[in-house]
Amino acid sequence: MSDQTEKFIVGAQEWCALPQLDVPVLKARVDSGARTSAIHAFNIHPFTRNSTLWVRFDIHPLQKSRRAIVRCEAPVTDRRIIKSSNGSSEKRFVITTALTLNGQTWDIELSLANRDTMGFRMLLGREAMSGRMLVDSADNFTLGCITDEEIELLYGNIANNRSDGLKIGILASDPKLYSNRRLMEAGEKRGHDMQFFNIRHCYMKLDADCPEVHYRDGRILNDLDAIIPRIRPSMTFYGCAITRHFESLGTFTCNSADAITRSRDKLYSLQLLQKRGLDIPITGYANSPSDTENLIDMVGGAPLIVKLLEGTQGRGVVLAETTKAAESVINAMKSLHANLLVQEYIKEAEGKDLRCFMIDGKVAAAIQRHAADGEFRANLHQGGRAELTKITQEEKQLAIKAVRTLDLNVAGVDIIRSERGPLLLEVNSSPGLEGIEAATGKDVASLMIESIERKMGVCRNQIAASPRQATAAAG
Ligand code: ADP
Repeated sequence: MSDQTEKFIVGAQEWCALPQLDVPVLKARVDSGARTSAIHAFNIHPFTRNSTLWVRFDIHPLQKSRRAIVRCEAPVTDRRIIKSSNGSSEKRFVITTALTLNGQTWDIELSLANRDTMGFRMLLGREAMSGRMLVDSADNFTLGCITDEEIELLYGNIANNRSDGLKIGILASDPKLYSNRRLMEAGEKRGHDMQFFNIRHCYMKLDADCPEVHYRDGRILNDLDAIIPRIRPSMTFYGCAITRHFESLGTFTCNSADAITRSRDKLYSLQLLQKRGLDIPITGYANSPSDTENLIDMVGGAPLIVKLLEGTQGRGVVLAETTKAAESVINAMKSLHANLLVQEYIKEAEGKDLRCFMIDGKVAAAIQRHAADGEFRANLHQGGRAELTKITQEEKQLAIKAVRTLDLNVAGVDIIRSERGPLLLEVNSSPGLEGIEAATGKDVASLMIESIERKMGVCRNQIAASPRQATAAAG
């Protein structure tokens, strides 16, 4: 490039083309803060052709739409650690390909980002500008606009044959469970291709170039857009390992493996919550039985609650009415090497607690649960009943702060009402849908699917009939 070449001005967004990849038009964000240009790609698979390394990948050329897919192939120029705008670094394939902008075509380096967090399908970095242009970031489409009709002409044929539905996997253990059935149903109703995967039947390939998740029936699950992990407590370790592997493929997960792992450890999550200043019942934890007496005093004496760290659905939660009973239960559990918490008993709650179903940091639905007669545990699995309730502003704030602290997109937050205000009992990363949908009449399953759509940039009105319906109609 000679210095005499006149530079042209580009705005913060421009339409460009990638002729060697058969991409006739693509909206790019011009970002001189980034060094290397990037394109959002998925199904990224390296392969060897004539002894050189190539990569095959798919792109969605249309912003906020997954209907058109262009399959691309290019020789690999490099594999490089690239730092994205949110500060995270990842190793990406880099290809060299022609870029057309303002009627000029030249080669640029393009990294393949497999995360759908760029906002734009393509970022044009400063290296690609190579002294040819100046950026006026206050302006957009300085080089001209492309109408919807023109885009329709260019991509219409590819897009018309596809629905904009997502491929969503439910990662769980029992397809017959109410919550799993409802999620399958809600996703299909909204036009998505829903598939159930038994966690036990998934396995993974760790490979820096091409990590994979396999299923027992021979399928490779790398082309899923999103997964909904519904991991039962006994499968936490393996379920989180599989979820983490999906994350490394760039698959969107409703809750991250790290957040699920954090929330599954009752002691650790209570430590995180109290560190954030959230009110919880006074809780004690000790390793040695010689500290039992002090532990009991610490939480205000009997009656008190003893909780197994690994317990769920109320199993492993015991009310010890007297100091003697408390000592016996704690020491008996300790002799079995069980990890347990000792907690002040919130008597005034009278066997009631609140369950807030949280989606994307907001209360999607809330119920009050009442324990059955003669029972202090309000869990529905312990015979409790649920009813619609209005929660206070303070309770709402507590629930919101709890999910923020544990970084969960979908969660059930349990709160108990005490004399000194609402106290946080625990946060569940796979909250059940049955009780909350029945008591509130809300379609919580669809709200969960909608949340995935928002995160994946799928507009609701773009979703066609479910793939099954579409096939039936075509047939
Ligand atoms: P799990 O994870 O097994 O559901 P929780 O800690 O949520 O365990 O306890 C189960 C139920 O026991 C709660 O829903 C609540 O009704 C009751 N409960 C738990 N902790 C206390 C407490 N400190 N005081 C009074 N009731 C409690």
